Amino acid sequence: MKLAVIGTGYVGLVSGVCFSDIGNDVTCVDKMSQKIEMLQQGEVPIYEPELKELIKKNAEAGRLRFTTDLTSAVGNADIVILAVGTPSMPSGEANLSYIMEAAKEVALAMNGHKIIMTKSTVPVGTNEKIGSLIRGNTAYPVSVASVPEFLREGSAVRDTMNPDRIVIGSDCEDARQALAELHKTLTDNILFTDVRSAEMIKYASNAFLATKISFINEIANICEKVGADVTQVAVGMGHDNRIGSSFLKAGIGYGGSCFPKDTEALIQIAGHVDYEFKLLKSVVEVNRDQRFNVIRKLESILDTLNGKTIAIWGLAFKPETDDVRDAPAFEIITSLLQRGASVKAYDPIATSNFMQKLNSPRIEYCDSAEEAALRADALCVLTEWKEFQKISPATIQSWLKSPNLIDGRNMYKEEEVANTGLIYYSVGRPNMN
Ligand code: NAD
Repeated sequence: MKLAVIGTGYVGLVSGVCFSDIGNDVTCVDKMSQKIEMLQQGEVPIYEPELKELIKKNAEAGRLRFTTDLTSAVGNADIVILAVGTPSMPSGEANLSYIMEAAKEVALAMNGHKIIMTKSTVPVGTNEKIGSLIRGNTAYPVSVASVPEFLREGSAVRDTMNPDRIVIGSDCEDARQALAELHKTLTDNILFTDVRSAEMIKYASNAFLATKISFINEIANICEKVGADVTQVAVGMGHDNRIGSSFLKAGIGYGGSCFPKDTEALIQIAGHVDYEFKLLKSVVEVNRDQRFNVIRKLESILDTLNGKTIAIWGLAFKPETDDVRDAPAFEIITSLLQRGASVKAYDPIATSNFMQKLNSPRIEYCDSAEEAALRADALCVLTEWKEFQKISPATIQSWLKSPNLIDGRNMYKEEEVANTGLIYYSVGRPNMN
């Protein structure tokens, strides 16, 4: 099939590359010429495991190309995939200006019937608006489908190649058939819904996962007070098939480009129909507060943070990605600076993205985990990169000026820390030493 993918971010680029890898002819479009030039030269503007190799393979096979020329890409395509960003506005609502602009550009570029497949996460009713906008700007027929994206950054290629399910929300039979054909090599589990339900499935899924995270974080906070261990509690809960073991990892809360914005957007979607989504509002509030437990723990160990040097391991919102959008590290580091501390920070991949958003004479961005930890008054682990897991607590202790470790991701096991002199605070587990 001939595809045009509009937007080559985490979703558009990975989807386009994976669709080319299963034999489709794909043109990826972005309006950022810098991104497109990099991709044309075989460079990848984002970090995502396996992606670079797949781009090379499929570009060389002539199935994958990159351009800023939306008109020719749409002209050559049967299916146009919308994968542009839908970031939060200050109100929490999704900003639909990029997707509406892209839809209009697509309409003006049409030279015949096209199927529009929306992968961007959009509020209920948006695909109907996209259909109307396109029909208002072209005489050619169009079929619109909502096919929400569920990939996770850090395992985006694997998730795209092996999806749990594909949801196709469309009222157009031709779109349902063509999109089922497009996805059939990826999975047998294709669900057909109406457009509005498909749009809601995406928000409801993210809101539910966010709820699980805030739930286990609150259980963790109670565990700390009653002397239980949340990791054991989560295992015990997870063995119940009705609950499931995923997303029960206590920590410093969720971040990233999806959960924070999609939970806020769903609260707004509900609000627009006079429904107060009380549960989700609490989920968001719990999440917002959870990251500051790191600060509270540091203050309880060090008394004051003024004049102290705090090492930070991990700036990305999770391992295996360079994405720092809504990463908890922002608020934690900002809060440390406000309290008079200096920060030495290290991340294996995300440092340059983070530096573009947060800079201060009191932040030193380091080139290694050791450099960040050396002679610091405390170390906070904010992202559980594998690289950090390989460093033993005893080694950490030897690097620090004062042996204080705040493990915001429960990266270390009790027995690994037990025989060290580290003062060790984790999440939802008893403090040690
Ligand atoms: P992103 O910001 O990484 O990429 C969006 C890209 O679209 C940018 O490169 C931008 O330049 C480009 N763009 C914007 N307007 C354009 C236009 N008119 N023409 C051509 N290019 C244009 O965004 P993302 O993280 O890939 O997310 C895209 C959508 O997918 C969002 O709605 C998001 O909520 C959803 N989503 C994201 C993830 C994720 O993990 N990132 C997962 C599932 C769903």
